[in-house]
Amino acid sequence: MIYLKNYINGALISPKSERYIDNYNPSTGEVYGQIPDSDLNDVNTAVEAASNAFDKWSNTSKDERSKILYKIADLIEQNLDKLAEAEAIDNGKPFSLAKRVDIPRAAHNFRFYATAIIHYSSESHHMEDQAVNFTHRDPVGVAGCISPWNLPLYLFSWKIAPALAAGNCVVAKPSEITPMTAFLLSSICIEAGLPDGVLNIVHGLGPKVGEAIVSHPDIPLISFTGGTQTGKHIAQIAAPMFKKLSLELGGKNPTIIFDDCDFDQMLATVTASSFDNQGQICLCGSRIFIQKTIYDKFKLAFIEKVNALKVGDPKDPSTNQGALVSKSHLEKVFSYIELAKEEGGSILCGGQRVQLEGPLKNGYYLAPTVIEGLDYLCRTNQEEIFGPVVTITPFESTEEVLKMANSTKYGLASSVWTKDISKANLVAKNLHAGIVWINCWLLRDLRTPFGGVKQSGVGREGGNEALQFFTEPKNVCIKYQ
Ligand code: NAD
Repeated sequence: MIYLKNYINGALISPKSERYIDNYNPSTGEVYGQIPDSDLNDVNTAVEAASNAFDKWSNTSKDERSKILYKIADLIEQNLDKLAEAEAIDNGKPFSLAKRVDIPRAAHNFRFYATAIIHYSSESHHMEDQAVNFTHRDPVGVAGCISPWNLPLYLFSWKIAPALAAGNCVVAKPSEITPMTAFLLSSICIEAGLPDGVLNIVHGLGPKVGEAIVSHPDIPLISFTGGTQTGKHIAQIAAPMFKKLSLELGGKNPTIIFDDCDFDQMLATVTASSFDNQGQICLCGSRIFIQKTIYDKFKLAFIEKVNALKVGDPKDPSTNQGALVSKSHLEKVFSYIELAKEEGGSILCGGQRVQLEGPLKNGYYLAPTVIEGLDYLCRTNQEEIFGPVVTITPFESTEEVLKMANSTKYGLASSVWTKDISKANLVAKNLHAGIVWINCWLLRDLRTPFGGVKQSGVGREGGNEALQFFTEPKNVCIKYQ
């Protein structure tokens, strides 16, 4: 049994209460670790450590901060296999995916912001013959960073790296469902020489640790990624305290396929955009709209591809689909399959749990599921399922598909498949989404703004957007004498 510890003021320590929560391996359904059940006392200690470290860290040169972030990136890469294995056990995702995507991306996040901070420049505004204005960009103080379970280290580092690069100190909380790689990151930060108190990682439950971070008077900015309901709750606490808020929330992303697309390329990518990480990526396309002229062709080819996906042991390199993250999440996703049937949908493939053998027999496996025949306004097509479940719906005109695509309360990502660049541009312009991919999916340049509109969030991460969020502008106006 592995006992995780909090990382506070440079040391790995037990929660003050000495209470722990079970940590499950979703591929077996067994408890394999214990997570600190931290509370306000632990958060207070972490905030005190971060506040004490702030003055020195914010005045540490950018070069020096950059060197330390680089070192963290290097150490993540040196521990690639160990971290990928930990992520696969904790989350249920295939080890091959964690090794190819999650862990390299976490290293990339640190390396990206290690260099971004060196190249970051602020604005100046010249008033002819009168004055010059320039903008200071100062770190804000102690940043609260809260992340979800679906891409554990990847999204945790996506917040921590820019916050630290910009000179803030951090009190961070990973999801209690997937805390392992954040715990391993603590030791990496110690080895990399990150000064004590600059980053503090407090493990535990959202309503206890997360809420203590959000409501702490000495944390002036909160960067949160998670569900829309949680985001709403956080905004209600943080807004009256005038905290800076970055909220990356849920989605119900459309995939739009026109009949003039490159069919083979589209098919391969749409299979990935539907089911990678068991559909548990906020950017996965869960509503697929196909032009009527190629609907039947797409349906046949897609079902064949999906049926060929192997659901299996996350450790097995031939596995395409691992386990869902938890029993309760499996039950939630399954309940949407039942709802889809009640709403008149036909299950074209999947739709049932997959029972593996031996030690994996109690794991949380679900066959990738494709549903057709649903109205675009029904609950299955409007609510976030966040699992290996997609719907397919035919359309005739661009106007019609835009109406259906834009009909949800969400607006995170979308992808459009066509060789007609004018049509692609028209659709991109009219989609209510923060991200539009044309003839691709999940092609990420970390300099680009990342985030959603409507109930998918407030603010943007990535590139300069994140550095602006984690700094406070101050204009200095100098009048010419
Ligand atoms: P969640 O909202 O349940 O939890 C996210 C984090 O918030 C966890 O660390 C949790 O402990 C914490 N939390 C829970 N209650 C809290 C509270 N009252 N105060 C403070 N913190 C609290 O989300 P989840 O189930 O972990 O993640 C899945 C959701 O995340 C999906 O909706 C998905 O779309 C979304 N997501 C969005 C993005 C994005 O970039 N927009 C990326 C990944 C995931």
